[in-house]
Amino acid sequence: LEYHKVLPKESRWGRSAANFRRDLQNLFDAGFRPVTLNAFLDGMMSRPPGLLGPICDKMLADERAYTPGTAKVAEAVDPWAALFPSPKDDPPEMSLPPGAMPVVFTFDDSDKSQFRLLPDGSLDPNCAVGVWTDFARKHPDFPVRATFYVLPDVMWTQHKWWTKKLQMLREWGCELGCHTVTHPVLKRLTDERVKWEIANSVDFIEKLGFFPNTMALPYGVAPKNRALLKGFRYHGKTYGFRGVLLGGAAPARQVTVKGFNPYKIQRIQGIDAFLGLSYWLNRVREGKVHPYVAP
Ligand SMILES: [Zn+2]
Repeated sequence: LEYHKVLPKESRWGRSAANFRRDLQNLFDAGFRPVTLNAFLDGMMSRPPGLLGPICDKMLADERAYTPGTAKVAEAVDPWAALFPSPKDDPPEMSLPPGAMPVVFTFDDSDKSQFRLLPDGSLDPNCAVGVWTDFARKHPDFPVRATFYVLPDVMWTQHKWWTKKLQMLREWGCELGCHTVTHPVLKRLTDERVKWEIANSVDFIEKLGFFPNTMALPYGVAPKNRALLKGFRYHGKTYGFRGVLLGGAAPARQVTVKGFNPYKIQRIQGIDAFLGLSYWLNRVREGKVHPYVAP
């Protein structure tokens, strides 16, 4: 699923808070439960968070001197544990109960309406995670678990609350991913400029203590040289992703299905229009689309 803004009123790029709550309820009632994109890419299997994808494992193995923040990854047995300051506080990845279906929530562009704190530091109940937190209180098996594709210059504004917000995301088990720095149409850029956009975004997110091993393409448009998404070296460091998301129109294929391409993962927009969330939920209800169901 792909969301941008959550606003008082519905608009093309803004889901109303009431409709966002309705989306949560509809998905819950239909039997969907939220998993992170990494859990989805792991094949919906319950894997400990330390197990990264083959590309990231290789990245870390390549970069013996790789030191985001103060963590010393090269010496760690578990690279993920070294990247997070307090890995014991991280909730385990959600393993789906029998009969449940996975849904991956993604939020692009880090608009302030996704995650806003009030002047006293409490969560604004009308922002996206505020609505979701309230929903999760009544539905504990539908926790706030999402991947945020942030823009470094924006990141929900409210810079004084960054540390607190990141801590909250970490406690909830949410992820941050790369959405470039300036949100360009990547196919118009030179390879060198594409590398700059990705490398600077990834470096920014790593400094926050998160591991951006997936990317959402701005406007869903890939660079001319698609191989850059899988990996490249830039100023002596290796970058690359295990999963890349397109813009929305169709559900993602199952990881285990032949033809699944982790560098072209489809999304559905959280809207009521043709090919939006309500359209696809109806297709599921009518038995015309068959999502993965946990055994
Ligand atoms: Zn975007």
